[in-house]
Amino acid sequence: MSILEVNHIKKVYKTRMGGEAVTALRDVHFSVEPGEFVAIMGESGSGKTTLLNILASLDTPTAGKVLVDGKDFTTLKDNERAIFRRSNLGFIFQDFNLLDNFSIEDNIKLPLVLAGEDYKKMDAKVEKAAGQLGIVGLLKKYPYEVSGGQKQRAAIARALITKPQLILADEPSGALDSKAADSLMNLFTTINQEGQTIVMVTHSVKAASSAKRVLFIKDGKVFHQLYRGNLTNEEMYERISDTLKILTT
Ligand code: ADP
Ligand code: MG
Repeated sequence: MSILEVNHIKKVYKTRMGGEAVTALRDVHFSVEPGEFVAIMGESGSGKTTLLNILASLDTPTAGKVLVDGKDFTTLKDNERAIFRRSNLGFIFQDFNLLDNFSIEDNIKLPLVLAGEDYKKMDAKVEKAAGQLGIVGLLKKYPYEVSGGQKQRAAIARALITKPQLILADEPSGALDSKAADSLMNLFTTINQEGQTIVMVTHSVKAASSAKRVLFIKDGKVFHQLYRGNLTNEEMYERISDTLKILTT
């Protein structure tokens, strides 16, 4: 069974006071199998964030359906949906969504607290996740005391700490320098090899070339898909660049 089924999703944003409605997604249709690492690319404004928010059930589609692990979120009760989302999904937001009144440590720990994790195990998990993202030295700081890239790494640690089976990441390397971005893609590759499924929106060709499949979105639809097969990252990079040239003309 697919871990994610995106069934003819359409999203129209209606504006107030008779402004023109915006069709962000026209007919997006694809599925993701367990163990995949999928990158989603498309120009700014092509509906990538809209799509990820719908996949995470943070927003509802105007038409169409999303199944995560065979479940339609809209048929679940609010508390069931919250529990399912918490125990199966890791979400990395484009604007991080850290809580300003919480230290970096408490932000990373939050999903474990919500899941009722044993206190004694929490610190070791926080330490490990922070170590993987290179932010152990920042745990006692607050979000307003650290850089954008450091906030982004904290948000990633928070998403990974519960080892969710499906990770939805919106431009996860958007605020990172190239070295930190490379190390994040190595981390994603490792956790993907260990079995976690990743769906990542990115406009970085370099980041996308770590994925096993790249979906290109244009005019509210999946315009093209590239499969890695046996290609190296360098060969993927070339293919993605070539496809983007076609996409933008
Ligand atoms: P991307 O992430 O690919 O840059 P978005 O999903 O953020 O694209 O936006 C897709 C389109 O939908 C854009 O035209 C954007 O202006 C519009 N849009 C996004 N969010 C809203 C909203 N809450 N209300 C109205 N229009 C929106
Ligand atoms: Mg976006």
